[in-house]
Amino acid sequence: MNARTKLPDLSHLWMPFTANKQFKADPRMLTGAKGMYYTSADGRRILDGTAGLWCVNAGHCRDEIAQAIAHQAATLDYAPGFQLGHPDAFEAASAVASFMPEGMDRIFFTNSGSESVDTALKIALAYHRARGEGQRTRLIGRERGYHGVGFGGISVGGIGPNRKAFSGALLPAIDHLPHTHDLEHNAFSRGQPAWGAHLADELERIVALHDPSTIAAVIVEPMAGSTGVLIPPKGYLERLREITSRHGILLIFDEVITAYGRLGAATASDFFGVKPDLLTMAKGISNAAIPAGAVAARREIHDAIVNGVQGGIEFFHGYTYSAHPMAAAAVLATLNLYRRDRLFDRARELSPAFEQAAHSLQGAPHVIDVRNLGLVAGIELQSRDGAVGARAAEIFQKCFDRGLLVRYTGDILAISPPLIVEAGQIKEMFDTIGAVLKDVR
Ligand code: PLP
Repeated sequence: MNARTKLPDLSHLWMPFTANKQFKADPRMLTGAKGMYYTSADGRRILDGTAGLWCVNAGHCRDEIAQAIAHQAATLDYAPGFQLGHPDAFEAASAVASFMPEGMDRIFFTNSGSESVDTALKIALAYHRARGEGQRTRLIGRERGYHGVGFGGISVGGIGPNRKAFSGALLPAIDHLPHTHDLEHNAFSRGQPAWGAHLADELERIVALHDPSTIAAVIVEPMAGSTGVLIPPKGYLERLREITSRHGILLIFDEVITAYGRLGAATASDFFGVKPDLLTMAKGISNAAIPAGAVAARREIHDAIVNGVQGGIEFFHGYTYSAHPMAAAAVLATLNLYRRDRLFDRARELSPAFEQAAHSLQGAPHVIDVRNLGLVAGIELQSRDGAVGARAAEIFQKCFDRGLLVRYTGDILAISPPLIVEAGQIKEMFDTIGAVLKDVR
């Protein structure tokens, strides 16, 4: 049966981060998913090269998670999180804490990465204020950083188009570090590039300009995903940690993509051996089966805020759906699954073969860089004159037509499969991309 004849009315849905008119003229619809595959509306199997949006780390439609959600929906559909609790909320917080770096075991639940980022920025401000340093209000992000779409997130974020229409209304006290991308020095690096640790020293310049006493926090993605997979240079994160600590500035790692196994460890913090003060997460925390997110805080930060007032509400922040019962159930089931199946170890064990397969594209038409870490690869293409993104968009479509889901930003392809991926599927992904690269001008 022709799927096009069964399409619903497409006019009412205003799609997020989508070329709406283009999509509606030629829609790509997904109707099912299991394990490593989506099913498209025309009945084809699509190999998921991107874990959805970097989030379905345990693969699709896992029975354990689906059953936990279904059971909760029928048992406790909703419980207010303000002045009331339910056991799974506390158990989910303990489970999350058990995956976090030591001492980062105070957990605030949200529903998304954007909410986690804005929550973390507010915790940073509240922390300094509770300690009598309320003048520390400046937040430092990084060029090309993606921290979701809240006003806090786009203010510290560094992706031009995400800020442009809102530029008059961004947070006032913001500055940005330079990004770390440099093909002249780092093209075709395997793992962390050798060049670029010194770019963290730019923080000293920013600190000198504003005075450390005015700066609340620095926020970075330890590995920048959405902008097109930028791997931190060796020594870079260590230097950021050293400079922020020396000046009493909090360091926030936005681990919405990297937490829960993407790099072959529970967190990027674990992977790199650099501990932030606050860590944001979402996506993999619930295997994306239901919206969920969280911020992990160092115990001292939590204690400074919570013990900083005599009585009453200590932190005026929270969501109707913070630790929603179904999200809490999904988080518990997901984290059990990660542990039971040792999926982060699996990601680590697969990463050398993944690296090898990704770098097989060096020398393929249009490819100007391949970079990788854990189970993430970025493949950067030469842009067509005057049409940035056009070549990658065409490749995305052709891969989809051949049964492979990839992601692209500008002219960078990103591959980040579920951690259950098999060696043969890794080969298939990069072979398909290689074949498509030969097929586009
Ligand atoms: N932070 C990072 C590092 C992300 O990659 C994303 C989403 O890709 C977000 C925040 C925003 O998450 P959400 O789309 O769940 O709001």
